[in-house]
Amino acid sequence: MAVIPLVYHPDERLTTVATDVPEIGGEIAQLAEEMLATMHDARGIGLAGPQVGRMDRLFVVHVPEDEPRVFINPRIIAASPDEGPYEEGCLSIPGVWADIQRPLEITVEAYDQSGDAFRLDAGGVLARVIQHEYDHLDGVLFIDYLTRRKRERLMKTYRKPGPEDDGAVDE
Ligand SMILES: [Zn+2]
Repeated sequence: MAVIPLVYHPDERLTTVATDVPEIGGEIAQLAEEMLATMHDARGIGLAGPQVGRMDRLFVVHVPEDEPRVFINPRIIAASPDEGPYEEGCLSIPGVWADIQRPLEITVEAYDQSGDAFRLDAGGVLARVIQHEYDHLDGVLFIDYLTRRKRERLMKTYRKPGPEDDGAVDE
């Protein structure tokens, strides 16, 4: 299975709103498979379309002790009032981690790679990753939640990887 080159911050595609997938057919199913392969290769647990240069509203998720999941044209339709911190990282910003506050439980509706609609109640790491990936479809990165001061301090040592830096281990 082909692995797609990752898009790294800063890149305009990571701050652009993606568009709905008009029709779920073989092409988008293959893209989802390639995104899963790319995510596994990079040892990540979530990957969104814009992170592989595809401005389509889809993302893939595979958290420990769960099956790989594909979300096409997703909508988060409910979020718990309870929020909590969790240390997040991103395949597009390798080596950078920060505690981010988000709702602990969410309900999401989406289509899978066969075009079937589903609804999922998620908690724990799954809820966390779904919200992180969903943000990518709206051009939002987890570092956007930090205060400017905190973000600048955190990003001081960050270097955008070049094409030669393959095989980084990160979320
Ligand atoms: Zn990310």
